[in-house]
Amino acid sequence: MNDCVFCKIVAGQIPSAKVHEDELTLAFMDIGAVNPGHVLVAVKPHVENIFGLDDKLAAAAFQTAARVARAVQKAYSPEGVTLYQANGAAAGQTVYHFHLHLVPRYEKDGMDLAWPVKNPPREQLQANAAKLRAALE
Ligand code: AMP
Ligand code: ZN
Repeated sequence: MNDCVFCKIVAGQIPSAKVHEDELTLAFMDIGAVNPGHVLVAVKPHVENIFGLDDKLAAAAFQTAARVARAVQKAYSPEGVTLYQANGAAAGQTVYHFHLHLVPRYEKDGMDLAWPVKNPPREQLQANAAKLRAALE
């Protein structure tokens, strides 16, 4: 994709602070880091979001995420690590090339994700599960 910033990073056309690279993934520092050690794990091919990942790419992305998470833990000893991954504007995605965030976390570090729990009735959960099982077939 000509105008995709992460494709340009993968191609080496714009600079990045690389952490890890393999055949299918690239991990590099987020330019807008929330905390030191905030890393992005991107797939190398231009895939917009999670819906375009095949099994091989999905596995590669999470394998790199787990590997880099261990490095973040070792290097920064944060109190926690949040994985954040957005698909679509409504979900908070701003760069439309699949990536996930590894964010080292600390108590009261200001990062906040509102989580408005609805606690639906059990029958509703069963109906939702049935709908998704049908979609998986
Ligand atoms: P998202 O909202 O999940 O799409 O996040 C996109 C992330 O990409 C943001 O956290 C940006 O700070 C980050 N970002 C955008 N451009 C660059 C760049 N050139 N190098 C590193 N990170 C970038
Ligand atoms: Zn791209």
